[in-house]
Amino acid sequence: MSQIIALTNQKGGVGKTTSAVNLAASLAALDRRVLLVDLDPQGHASMGSGIDKHELDKSVLDVLLGEATATDTIVSQLPVKYDVLPGNGDLTAAEVELLDLDKRESCLTVALGSVADNYDVVLIDCPPSLNMLTVNALTAANSVLIPLQCEFYALEGLSALLDTVEQIKQSVNPDLAIAGILRTMYDKRTSLTREVDKQLRDFFGDALLKTTIPRNVKVAEAPSHGLPVTQYARFSRGSQAYRVLAKEMIRRLSL
Ligand code: ADP
Ligand code: MG
Repeated sequence: MSQIIALTNQKGGVGKTTSAVNLAASLAALDRRVLLVDLDPQGHASMGSGIDKHELDKSVLDVLLGEATATDTIVSQLPVKYDVLPGNGDLTAAEVELLDLDKRESCLTVALGSVADNYDVVLIDCPPSLNMLTVNALTAANSVLIPLQCEFYALEGLSALLDTVEQIKQSVNPDLAIAGILRTMYDKRTSLTREVDKQLRDFFGDALLKTTIPRNVKVAEAPSHGLPVTQYARFSRGSQAYRVLAKEMIRRLSL
C-alpha cells in the first residue's frame, strides 16, 4: 500500500514546492518508489524536476478530467529518480472545469487509483489556496504535511487550513491524518524563531517535526538547474536537511 501525502498550506512562499521536490528526491535516494504530483498551476514542482511545463502534451488536468490516464501522463526522466505527474497553467481552468463533474472532490482519488500501488509514496504539491485542487489532494491523501516559515504570521491562516482538513475528514476522508508540521527557511538564532517555535510546540505537540530546513542558497538555486538540491549540491546544508527529513518521515509513517 502506498502512502499519499499532500504538502499544503494556502500561504504562498512557505516552501511547499521546494519540500515536495526535495523530499521526493531524498526518499527516492533511500530506494523508495516515489511519485510527485504537481497540482499547482505554476508548475514549479515539474520545472524543479527538470520537466518543461510548456512542452507537455498532457498534464494532471487531463487526468483529473478523465481525458488521459495517469500511466500515460506520468513522466520518468533521469537524472531525477522519482516519477512526476506534471502540471502547468492549464490547471487554472480546473476550478471551473471540475465544477461540471460529479464527485468533483474525488477526481484525483480516482486518477491515482490505478497507479498508486506502483509507488511507496505519492507526494502532492498543492497550490497556495484552499480551492478545489487542494480539496482533491486532501481527499486523495492519507496525510497532510504542512510546511511553514517561523515568522510572525506563521500561524495566521493555519486554523483555516486545519478547519478544511477537519471538514474533509468529516465528509469524504475520515482517516486523513497530519503527517507533520515542517519548519522551513529556519534560522534558530533569532528570538522571533524561538517564540514561534514555542507556540508551534504548544499547539501541535508531536506533530511538529524534529527536522528543520535551514535557509540555504543552494536550495534556492537548484530549481533553475531543473534539479533537486540533493542532486545539484549534495553536500549543502539544505540537501543534508532534506535527507534527514526523509529519514524522519520514513520512521514516522513507516514508509
Ligand atoms: P511555495 O511552494 O510554498 O509557494 P516555494 O517552495 O516555491 O514555496 O518557496 C518559495 C521561495 O523560497 C522559492 O524561491 C524557493 O526557492 C525559496 N526557498 C524555499 N526553501 C528555501 C530554503 N530552505 N532556503 C532558501 N530558499 C528557499
Ligand atoms: Mg509552490
